[in-house]
Amino acid sequence: MLFLIGTRDSNIKNGEIFNEKCPKCNEENTLHFSIYRRYTHLTLIPLFPVGKLVFIKCSHCKETFNYEDLSESIQLKLRTEKTGNSIWMFTGSFILALFLIFTIKNYFDKKDETSILIKTPIVGDVYNLKFSDGYYSNMKIDKVTKDSVYTTHNDFNAYLPYEIDALDKSENYTNRKATYSKKELLELYKKDEIIKIKRSKYPIQLLKSEYQIPITK
Ligand SMILES: [Zn+2]
Repeated sequence: MLFLIGTRDSNIKNGEIFNEKCPKCNEENTLHFSIYRRYTHLTLIPLFPVGKLVFIKCSHCKETFNYEDLSESIQLKLRTEKTGNSIWMFTGSFILALFLIFTIKNYFDKKDETSILIKTPIVGDVYNLKFSDGYYSNMKIDKVTKDSVYTTHNDFNAYLPYEIDALDKSENYTNRKATYSKKELLELYKKDEIIKIKRSKYPIQLLKSEYQIPITK
């Protein structure tokens, strides 16, 4: 996805300045103003406003003026013009904040879930591992006894953490058997070598019966 960042101007108010004279032609009530608010955007989604721009033009002599060229009292009138709030200019910031909150919450939920699952290993659990040499992989639990957990390690390693889940295919668990005590597994979790545990949401029994196909001859 391509992100484009930039600024845009939105015209938020137009009007006339009363009881003031044009600095050039000296006519009264001829000054018109346009106020623009500049905002930053990310791929056209407004992030936040960054400033105001004011354009002033005299309807009599057609001269345009910069804000700085105007008298103190005209500047004050422009400054006190009510422009309303432009809360929509924060849309993108709001979305980004929500996204960030969701990501952080999800991270802690997953961490929390792992800290509970590590205490009660069951057959079928998949443990995501981080080795001390920096590689990632996973292992699947085959059998659990009172103290020991029998596992099969994945045949493959991943270089990056987000690639681990893609390795989790049943044909990748073949002959790398390893047995751990439950205490050892807890130690590995504390040392951050077990980084995530995935448990099937459905009891294994249910899945089996669902996939049973009657044999007819
Ligand atoms: Zn004028």
